Amino acid sequence: MLKIAYSDIYVYQLPDGHRFPMSKYELLPQQLLYEGTVTEENFFEPNQLTTAQLLTVHTPKYLHKLETLTLSKKEIRNIGFPVQKSLIERGKYIASGTYQCAHYALKAGISLNIAGGTHHSYADHGEGFCVFNDMALASKLLLQEGTVKKILFIDLDVHQGNGNAYIFRDEPAVFTFSMHGAKNYPLRKEQSDLDIGVLDKIEDAAYLRLLEETLPRLIDEVQPDLAFYQAGVDILATDKLGRLSVSQKGCQQRDAFVMKQCQKNNIPLVVAMGGGYSEKIYDIIEAHANTYRTAQELYF
Ligand SMILES: [Zn+2]
Repeated sequence: MLKIAYSDIYVYQLPDGHRFPMSKYELLPQQLLYEGTVTEENFFEPNQLTTAQLLTVHTPKYLHKLETLTLSKKEIRNIGFPVQKSLIERGKYIASGTYQCAHYALKAGISLNIAGGTHHSYADHGEGFCVFNDMALASKLLLQEGTVKKILFIDLDVHQGNGNAYIFRDEPAVFTFSMHGAKNYPLRKEQSDLDIGVLDKIEDAAYLRLLEETLPRLIDEVQPDLAFYQAGVDILATDKLGRLSVSQKGCQQRDAFVMKQCQKNNIPLVVAMGGGYSEKIYDIIEAHANTYRTAQELYF
């Protein structure tokens, strides 16, 4: 059965106690239930990662600053959210969600988290709406347990997975692949094990061709026993930040291609949500929902 990590705490509360109106974290599960793609049984509530678990990636100094709410103004500005206790707690649940998804994926082939993919988070600081690095944390924990020996990151969010690249720059057990907008944030990119920078306005055919030329070869070379897929939908033409010209159909074909490649090669796949900033919330929910629809169709 498809297992999906989700908790009410994913819906971020603003400092004044109000929720972001129409949050995708709230709407996506509702849409999936409403249309019958999933039932309540598909969801599980993640735990929180412990401090010891967070320390496998993050520095004691950074954790201390978070716990005591003593980040500098600049550090808070870099994260991009008002930093308060609930944001930090939320991050611990989301990171655990990705980690627990990995264990479900090892059994069922795939598992998805309705959040996460916080790939701009470094060991010692957060950036771009990312506090903790969920995929890096999950990787460290799995490697430490000996559950897996080789991990492949497939990061197809429009923004480079700079935190991932830097955290695992000297870690041969994790191969970081990022395909992103060459001209997009972060302006100063880190070096992943493989980076493909695509030009602004790239359309479905050219985008998918690049992926099709790359991923099968990578899987052959890396021979991972688990993959993390950052399935950001900010590659859409409708995205306010993305600058690419990929259609809803192209985005869905991207997801299907990644899943089919992993399925064919018996690589358990963990999908984290990533970014999505289209003007209309409908476009965001539709693209994320397609990822779940595709997973159900291909695997179950
Ligand atoms: Zn992004």
